[in-house]
Amino acid sequence: MIDLTITEALQKLKSGEISATELTRAHLDRIEKYGKELNCFITLTPERALSDAAAADERIKNGTPRALDGIPIAMKDLFATKGIRTTAASHILENFVPQYESTVSQNFIDAGTVLLGKSNLDEFAMGTFSKTSYFGAPISPWQMERRLNAGGSSGGTTSAVAGGLAMGGTGTDTGGSIRFPCSITGLVGVKPTYGLCSRWGCVAFASSLDTPGPIARTVDDAALLLSVMAGHDPKDSTSANVKTEISVPLKPILGDGKKLRIGIIKEFADVKVSDDMKNLFEKRVADLKSLGAEVVEVSIPNILDALAAYYVIAPAEASSNLARYDGVRYGLRVEGKDIYDTFKKTRAAGFGDEVKRRMLIGTAVLSSSSYEVYFMQAARVRRMIADSFNRAFEQCDLIVCPSGANTALPLDSDLTPLEYYALDLFTVAMNLAGIPAVSVPCGLASNNLPLGMQVVGKMFDDVCVLQLAKHIEQFANIDNRPTKIMGK
Ligand code: GLN
Repeated sequence: MIDLTITEALQKLKSGEISATELTRAHLDRIEKYGKELNCFITLTPERALSDAAAADERIKNGTPRALDGIPIAMKDLFATKGIRTTAASHILENFVPQYESTVSQNFIDAGTVLLGKSNLDEFAMGTFSKTSYFGAPISPWQMERRLNAGGSSGGTTSAVAGGLAMGGTGTDTGGSIRFPCSITGLVGVKPTYGLCSRWGCVAFASSLDTPGPIARTVDDAALLLSVMAGHDPKDSTSANVKTEISVPLKPILGDGKKLRIGIIKEFADVKVSDDMKNLFEKRVADLKSLGAEVVEVSIPNILDALAAYYVIAPAEASSNLARYDGVRYGLRVEGKDIYDTFKKTRAAGFGDEVKRRMLIGTAVLSSSSYEVYFMQAARVRRMIADSFNRAFEQCDLIVCPSGANTALPLDSDLTPLEYYALDLFTVAMNLAGIPAVSVPCGLASNNLPLGMQVVGKMFDDVCVLQLAKHIEQFANIDNRPTKIMGK
């Protein structure tokens, strides 16, 4: 049962062929078997899952099903869940139990989903391999004996979804944290337009970049999840008041003589990627051409500066957002000799090294002597990148590019912080510009591990982005069923 896609499961639930309780039990069994080894969940909620499932079964029986009734999901442990511990994978929030529900998780409740648990991530979503988690890193279910990283920061969700421990789940993408982990685990990850999914109740990292989005095994499944996540939220002042109609199955955007101009970013052509990535990317572009797409070269002149701008802006916002963890209001408190000493001791004990590094960088670039040269300069680069994307979209309808350079590396790879940061090269620019981008599997590399490529669109063109991603998914045609990739 765990190999079913969400779309298939909804059909079977509706027809009565399976029940939500059976579907949930199948996932709880799988969690029991592989959950520890994959380390994909920080907190499990089996009782809640079974009661959600029973309620879903009841509604289905009464003929009043909700959009995603009975679908078991994993919630990134960055979304506040009422009465359920929400840690952001940090020691400082290890015992934090929110009294409120984030908008995104509430939307899932309203859609009838079944909450299996809170999935692992990098501490405060800062990282690329989920290794900065206070609870240890999750691993990828692909070639499990090799202990490959499942990506980050949404690596708990990708590990769970790829391994069949959940049918889909949530992530957040500040600089690539949905797209990168999905690209190396054979999944579909959507970073929607900034503001499409509410940030309310989602632990803040860099507020002008943070973008909640779905993770699933197919493009249609991801679209279904997005359709319940998205929506205007008056509680989030940056939430977009735009109605996005997402109907699944997604319709083809190519074929039958349809016209579509696909842009390839000139500046990315010189970036070194693996031969497999290069070949698969070229193959998929050729496939799209064969369906009638016109391929054009576009230029985003500053795109290679996006990394530098991101690693100024994101830490700057983080240093301000994380100032609230002081041991006074909530979270860990380590008593000192006076209040300042308590602040110091609490923060020294509560945050991990990477989070401290970001706060130091952020505080430095915001200091009066550096603000002009670093922060303001980064803000200007950001504006130029956004403008360049706008100009590029006068020449093309959608853009395609790789999601990363390589397949998954072993978790114990010894990378320096700068080497980790460099892995975000293909993803950060879209966050700076606020535009939608999807990572979709583009094929298997010669080592039999998946690779992903991105489809990028204009603000609020999320549906077109998904439609083109679906064509790529069909051409790539990788088999990412959990029992196939795990061999069990
Ligand atoms: N890897 C990036 C970082 O560490 C992206 C993180 C994210 O998108 N949350 O900042």
